Amino acid sequence: MTNHPHYVGRFAPSPTGPLHFGSLVAAIGSYLDARSARGQWFIRVEDLDPPRTVRGAGRHILKQLADHGLVSDHPVVYQSQRLQHFDNALSILQTEGRLYSCNCPRRSYPGLYPGTCRTRELSGSQPSALRFRVGETTIQQKDLVQGAVTWTYGKDFGDFIVHRKDGLHAYQLAVVIDDIAQKVTRIVRGADLLSATPMQTCLYNALGVQSPETLHLPMVLGRDGQKLSKQTHAPVINTASAADNLNQALAFLNQPAIASDNPKTILSAAIKNWRTDRIPKLMGKTL
Ligand code: GLU
Repeated sequence: MTNHPHYVGRFAPSPTGPLHFGSLVAAIGSYLDARSARGQWFIRVEDLDPPRTVRGAGRHILKQLADHGLVSDHPVVYQSQRLQHFDNALSILQTEGRLYSCNCPRRSYPGLYPGTCRTRELSGSQPSALRFRVGETTIQQKDLVQGAVTWTYGKDFGDFIVHRKDGLHAYQLAVVIDDIAQKVTRIVRGADLLSATPMQTCLYNALGVQSPETLHLPMVLGRDGQKLSKQTHAPVINTASAADNLNQALAFLNQPAIASDNPKTILSAAIKNWRTDRIPKLMGKTL
């Protein structure tokens, strides 16, 4: 067991529906990793996108987590309450010349954004998004499960949106600003977000803050090979079988099973057993 008194970890669900097994794996992985390092763990509800937010889903997720023994160490943070902080960060980036307006329709660039508006200097009179001007760079990350990963600007990622045309703050900006505010030292989440890492690292660099370590867990794939998600109507986890769900998540992450029907007992034993080198080094794994 490592003893890292400053470890801060988090689970950051978007309340677009109740928890499914894929998000439970991310919750348990982040919790066990934090606790095994004697760190703090908190929950942040990423309710940044009102059109996608399902009413009551935040509360439902928190209840599902609590039924599995997973309770935040700090009062739960809601991103919808933090808009001023995101605006402040935008002003800083704007002042430093890191942002530009972009009114390209989304559909006009299905792949990497080619930087069409970078030199257009739009007047700001028409609705436009704000993009982060990355510049030539290569980002390297030593992910604690996926290993060394390198992304090159212009090949693997491009200038990305930090404020949307519809007036909403973008995920990339909000997640970084909140992880900085909450002093997160290690991000544990699903491997579907590995590709977001270089963009987030660029924001950390621009703000002069050291980026956290990352540990990307394999995504849970359904029989069709697709990631379980709320959008594909993954089955909602049944909290009446919390102990079984926990053991299933432990098995998925290649951690030993715990013979108990009490979630708290399972979690405390799983903390002691937790070994990141047992986690499958895969982007996705079928259930
Ligand atoms: N809110 C994001 C999601 O539910 C996760 C953000 C993160 O862990 O960085 O997919």
